[in-house]
Amino acid sequence: MSRPSTLAQLFALDSLLDADEIAIRDTVRDFANARLRPHIGDWFENAELPAREIARELGQIGALGMHLEGYGCPGMSATAYGLACLELEAVDSGIRSLVSVQGSLAMFSIHHWGSEEQKNEWLPRMAAGEAIGCFGLTEPDFGSNPSGMRTNAKRDGDDWLLNGTKMWITNGSIADVAVVWAQTDEGIRGFVVPTDTPGFSAPEIHKKMSLRASVTSELVFDNVRLPGSAMLPKAQGLSGPLTSLGEARFGIIFGAIGAARDCLETAIDYSQSREVFDKPLAGYQITQTKIADMALEVGKGHLLAYHLGRLKDRGEIRPEQISTGKLNNTREAIKIARECRTILGANGITLEYPVIRHANNLESVLTYEGTSEVHQLTIGRALTGEAAFR
Ligand SMILES: Cc1cc2nc3c(=O)[nH]c(=O)nc-3n(C[C@H](O)[C@H](O)[C@H](O)COP(=O)(O)OP(=O)(O)OC[C@H]3O[C@@H](n4cnc5c(N)ncnc54)[C@H](O)[C@@H]3O)c2cc1C
Repeated sequence: MSRPSTLAQLFALDSLLDADEIAIRDTVRDFANARLRPHIGDWFENAELPAREIARELGQIGALGMHLEGYGCPGMSATAYGLACLELEAVDSGIRSLVSVQGSLAMFSIHHWGSEEQKNEWLPRMAAGEAIGCFGLTEPDFGSNPSGMRTNAKRDGDDWLLNGTKMWITNGSIADVAVVWAQTDEGIRGFVVPTDTPGFSAPEIHKKMSLRASVTSELVFDNVRLPGSAMLPKAQGLSGPLTSLGEARFGIIFGAIGAARDCLETAIDYSQSREVFDKPLAGYQITQTKIADMALEVGKGHLLAYHLGRLKDRGEIRPEQISTGKLNNTREAIKIARECRTILGANGITLEYPVIRHANNLESVLTYEGTSEVHQLTIGRALTGEAAFR
C-alpha cells in the first residue's frame, strides 16, 4: 500500500500560503495541540473552561485582536487570523468563540467605532488577554432581527442610563468589559460598559449541550449609569454591530472547516485501525466513498476560506461573500461531523474522540453569527435584488 496523503496534500493547500502564514498557523496549531487538546474533553464534559488563564496564553501567542493594528494588537493579515481560527476550532468551537468574541466582536468594535480614550483604555489589555470582552446584541425576543431590540439607553444629564436584557452572550459572566448595543433617541448606539458598574449582572446560562467549553450568559442592565464618554462615537445604527459581526463571521469560515478537518482526520485514523468482518474498516468501499466525499468538502471549504481571506486582505470582501463562506463551511462541517460519527460507531458518541463534541458545537455555530437561513436570505437578496427577510 502506498503511503497515505494528508488532506492538506490532496489539495496542495500549503502552496496557497506564504512562509509567514505557515509559521503563524503552525504556532497556533502547536499551542492548540499541546495546551488545549489534552484537556478539552474534560472542559466540555464539566462545562468548565479556565478562560482567564487561556486568554492570557492566547494573548502571548498574539491570537487576540490578531488582525487589528496598533494599541498593542498584533496587526496581522485577515488570512493569518483565519488560519488561527481554523487551528483553534480544530480543537473546539468554544475556544475559537472565545477568540472571535474577544478579537472580532469586542476589540474590533472598540477599535473601529471607539474614541481614542476607549481604545487606549481597553485594547492593550484585551490584546494581552488581561481583560476579557463580550458583545451584547442578541435579546431574548430578538436574535435574527436585532433591530427590534428593547435594551435602551436614555440621557440623564451628561450620563446615560442603560436598561434591558441581552441573551446568549459569549464570555458574558467572565468579561471585564461589555460592548452593548441599545436603542437611544438617536437610534441604535453602542456602549462600552465596564462590568463592575453598579446595576450590571451576568448570570451564566447552564444546561447547554453545545459549546460547553465556552461561557454563555445573560446580561442584565438595571439602571446602569454610564458617563457620556461610554458611547462608541463612530457607530450609528445597526450597521455598527453588523459590521462587527461580519468580522466574526469571517473567522467562522475558517474555524468551521477546522472542526470538519479534525473530525475527518479522526475518522480516517479510526477506520485504519478498527477491524470489522476481519479487515480494517478503511478497506471497504462504503467507507472510502464517505471519506472521499468528505475530503472534497473539507478541501473546497479550505479553498473558499483562503480565497475569501485574500479578498478581505485586499479590502474587497462584501457581506454576501462572508455569508457564502459562513453558510457553506458551517453547513458542510456539521454534515461531515455527523458522517464521521457513523464511521466511529458507538465510540463516536463518547468524549474519548472529538467527533460528537464537534457535531454538538457546530449546532451553535450554525445558529450564531447569523443563522443558515439568514445567510441564505442575504445571498438570495444579493442574487435577486429582492429582500425576503420580512
Ligand atoms: C452558544 C451561543 C453563543 C452566542 N453568543 C452570542 C454573543 O456573544 N453575542 C450575541 O449578541 N449573541 C450571541 N448568540 C446569539 C445568536 O447570535 C442568536 O442565537 C442568533 O442570532 C439567532 O437568534 P435566535 O436564537 O433568537 O433565533 P431566531 O431569530 O428566533 O430564529 C429562529 C429560527 O427562525 C429562523 N428565521 C429567523 N428569521 C427568519 C426569516 N426572516 N425567514 C426565515 N426564517 C427565519 C432562524 O433562521 C431560525 O431557524 C449566541 C448564541 C449561541 C447559541
